Amino acid sequence: MLSKNKVIFLGAPGAGKGTFSAMLLEQVKLAHISTGDILRAEVASGSELGKQAAIIMQRGELLPDEIVAAMVKSRLAQDDCREGFILDGFPRTTPQAELLKQALQELDNELDGVIFFKVEDELLLKRLSGRISCKACGEIYNRYFQKPAVDMICDKCGGELFQRPDDSIETARERLKVFYEQTEPLIDYYRQQGLLLTITEVEKNKAFAALLELLQ
Ligand code: AMP
Repeated sequence: MLSKNKVIFLGAPGAGKGTFSAMLLEQVKLAHISTGDILRAEVASGSELGKQAAIIMQRGELLPDEIVAAMVKSRLAQDDCREGFILDGFPRTTPQAELLKQALQELDNELDGVIFFKVEDELLLKRLSGRISCKACGEIYNRYFQKPAVDMICDKCGGELFQRPDDSIETARERLKVFYEQTEPLIDYYRQQGLLLTITEVEKNKAFAALLELLQ
């Protein structure tokens, strides 16, 4: 079977990259590298970098390319990444894509494909600004699409629900603007390299099955 398991998930915030990754990872063993998750862990640790990152993330802006690329490079050097990985939320700029190319070359590894999640802005904004999660167990809900039975209380554990600071409507708008200005050029960048595969909302279920087969 054809196997292409070193992939980038590219798409605006709220496009479903994280959800798709989580579903795939239940069935295939791949390293999941989410720069958003790495940075949130850094913020939670209270480190100096975490403090700086929190300010930038709350504004919906991007961290400096070199900092994020260095984090990804050290993660890619770990053994589990040789077998396959999903890069979720990285690269987000053309310089990051160039740094990634260089890092993979140095590690004697290479990219198989780039999956672009194409979603309308209106839906993205509702997904981002409606997203709430449980402080206790991390369960995710949405105020528009997946409401808890009792307002702001987790159905699963009764914990309190909260909104991520970077999911406020103002930050969500800024994050989309940043996506169009800085990340969208990567669609053509990877299309020109023959690596791009686009998935739309309508095709999502079909695409999931196809991807699962490809990533095995
Ligand atoms: P995410 O959960 O992937 O939407 O990331 C949350 C936030 O982390 C982003 O809005 C950025 O502030 C920061 N971030 C995540 N990935 C990157 C990246 N590749 N480059 C720069 N900043 C990033």
